[in-house]
Amino acid sequence: MKLKARLILTGIILISLVVCYCLVLLILDMDLMTDYVDPRPPQVKSHKLCVVVPYRDRLEELEEFSPHMSKFLNNQNVSHHILIVNQTDSFRFNRASLINVGWNEADRLGCDYMVMNDVDLLPVNPEVPYEFPGVGVIRHITSPEYHPKYHYEKFIGGILMLTLEDYKRLNGMSNKYWGWGLEDDEFYLRIVDSKLNLTRVSGLSTNSTNTFRHIHGPKRKRDYIPKKNDKKQWEIKRKRDKVSGLHNVRYLINSRRLLDFSGTSVTIINVALDCDFNWTPYCKS
Ligand code: UDP
Ligand code: MN
Repeated sequence: MKLKARLILTGIILISLVVCYCLVLLILDMDLMTDYVDPRPPQVKSHKLCVVVPYRDRLEELEEFSPHMSKFLNNQNVSHHILIVNQTDSFRFNRASLINVGWNEADRLGCDYMVMNDVDLLPVNPEVPYEFPGVGVIRHITSPEYHPKYHYEKFIGGILMLTLEDYKRLNGMSNKYWGWGLEDDEFYLRIVDSKLNLTRVSGLSTNSTNTFRHIHGPKRKRDYIPKKNDKKQWEIKRKRDKVSGLHNVRYLINSRRLLDFSGTSVTIINVALDCDFNWTPYCKS
């Protein structure tokens, strides 16, 4: 009887010891888990900018633009890709449709934000911000305060930046603008209708004479369609377009080429736009 009691007692002591040991291990382990610090630097999500340039027949300007832009963006440590969307068909120039095509190309290249940048507008003040604007934020870079030529309140042309996601949400730009002007004013209406936040660059140390250089060659005539020639068409162009945009831009890519301008490599996308003659007969020049 005595022996049996002793055995039971020894058993209890042994089990208690094992339980205590396990508890100590568990506590130590929890401690280690809370104190553990990953020695690797925190991962910063990297953004990639696609510079989308609507383009036709402006070689001299492109030769100056490409190396300038690349240097400017490298100085700001902005990872980027320059896409020249070159209109090869013989219709009137269609800046907005080319930017829609540029969005598709930027998406293929894995960019998460884009800037539509006219080929003849060069930022010269290094403070001009090209970093990621944030989702839901549209940054007008050539704001009326700084653009060398256009100063009206609702102006959003020249250089405008946003995420690819937000451009898609707006269904891009209207495809009905053949010839010079008004496509940016229609895009303004899309932004107003959306919940997106339009911000204008401000607070720079420069002004409209020295923030950007407008290298628009004196021989480059704007393809205005005079109001008196076609009043109906003029009226169509002033209205918000609810039917066309990024989802239905019609085009064919002829080729994609890498070109070098003074050591800067840019992608030229040769695009033939398609025109719906019933809808926009004025696409023919
Ligand atoms: N553009 C072009 N070829 C043309 C017309 C326009 O490449 O025949 C492009 C170019 O990027 C230009 C932009 O569209 O900077 C805006 O056109 P433009 O400079 O004629 O207009 P502005 O803003 O000076 O009135
Ligand atoms: Mn110009």
